[in-house]
Amino acid sequence: MNLAIIGAGYVGLVTGACLADVGNRVVCVERNTERLRVLRGGGIPFFEPGLAEMAAHNAQAGRLAFTDDLPSALSDAEIVFIAVGTPADEDGSADLGHVLEASAALGRAIPRDMVVVVKSTVPVGTCHRVQALIEETLRERGAPWRVSVASNPEFLKEGSAVDDFQRPDRIVIGTEDARALRLMAALYAPYNRNRDRLIHTDVRSAEFTKYASNVMLATRISLMNELARIAEKVGADIEAVRHGAGADPRIGHHFLYAGVGYGGSCFPKDIQALARLAADHGESTPLLDSVQRVNEEQKRVMAAKIRRHLGPSLHGRCVALWGLAFKPNTDDIREAPSLALVRELLADGATVRAYDPVAADNARRAIDHPGLVIVPNALAACEGADVLTVVTEWREFKSPDFRGLAGRLKSRAIFDGRNLYDPEYVESCGLAYYGIGRGARP
Ligand code: NAD
Repeated sequence: MNLAIIGAGYVGLVTGACLADVGNRVVCVERNTERLRVLRGGGIPFFEPGLAEMAAHNAQAGRLAFTDDLPSALSDAEIVFIAVGTPADEDGSADLGHVLEASAALGRAIPRDMVVVVKSTVPVGTCHRVQALIEETLRERGAPWRVSVASNPEFLKEGSAVDDFQRPDRIVIGTEDARALRLMAALYAPYNRNRDRLIHTDVRSAEFTKYASNVMLATRISLMNELARIAEKVGADIEAVRHGAGADPRIGHHFLYAGVGYGGSCFPKDIQALARLAADHGESTPLLDSVQRVNEEQKRVMAAKIRRHLGPSLHGRCVALWGLAFKPNTDDIREAPSLALVRELLADGATVRAYDPVAADNARRAIDHPGLVIVPNALAACEGADVLTVVTEWREFKSPDFRGLAGRLKSRAIFDGRNLYDPEYVESCGLAYYGIGRGARP
């Protein structure tokens, strides 16, 4: 098929590269000139495992192209995806500016009957707004084309996005138009062979499904973090508890980790947007509100532990920090818990020596402060540091030389924000250990 995709960010570019890889011809429309320059030069503008190779391979094969010119991208397209950002507005609602702008541009440029697929995460009712906006613009042009707007939320995870797209748990397609459904089912057929993953719903339910999924996951994290705090007070180990509770198949072991709070470009904004949507419809959201409050508090837990260990003032202290990305295998630092921790440590007068395998540049841009020194490797972060805190569970942090660290860290302590380490083993190597919800350890 001939496809156009508006927005070549994490979702748009992964979608474009993967759909090109199975034989479609895809044109990605990107308006950020720097991103476009990188894409046209054969690179990708962010870190995502496997994506650069796939994009380059398909670009060379003539199946994937990049432009800032929407009309040319639409000239052969049968389906156009909208994959632009929907960040949080000041009041927490989803800012639909990019989506509506892209829709108006589509109305002005669409050259024939077309299926428009909204892949961005959008509040219930948005696809109908997009449909109305495009139809109005077409009417103004006197264009007779029939446009059908479908919802196709994306469930990929940064860090494993290519794999997630190619091996989806489910493909949710919200449309009330049989022709659009047929076309979308054909497009997704390569990913839907060994069992039927296609879930066909009405448009509104598809839009809602994405929010429901993200807030359930965020709720799970906040619940584990709340349990971890109680575990600490009563002398239980949340890691043992997690294994025991997760063994019940109704609970399951996945995504059941206590830590320093959730971040990223989706959970924080999506939970806010759903709460806002509910409020606009006169519904209160006590559970969603608590999930957010627990998360905000959780982001501050590590700084409090470090303060308790090093004394009330952090002036003149140096904290080594491993991991800036909001999770491993990505350079995305949007809403990352690391940023909240770094800001709090800096405000308390500490200096921070931070290392992340790929997110250093983004972090430097996010926090421009002389007290934050970003270094090129994990050991360099510990030079002259009092303590070490681990914020992102990158693989290279999983088995460090604890005895070597004990020799380097002046105050000989590790603050393990992801419960990666065995407390007893760390302590046997001469370090104090502080995790999240781990028994009587503070
Ligand atoms: P992103 O910010 O990485 O990318 C969006 C891109 O769209 C940017 O490059 C921007 O320049 C471009 N853009 C905006 N308006 C444009 C226009 N009119 N014409 C051309 N280009 C335009 O965002 P993302 O992380 O890919 O997220 C996109 C959507 O997908 C959001 O709604 C998000 O909630 C949702 N989503 C994201 C993820 C994720 O893990 N990042 C997962 C699932 C769903």
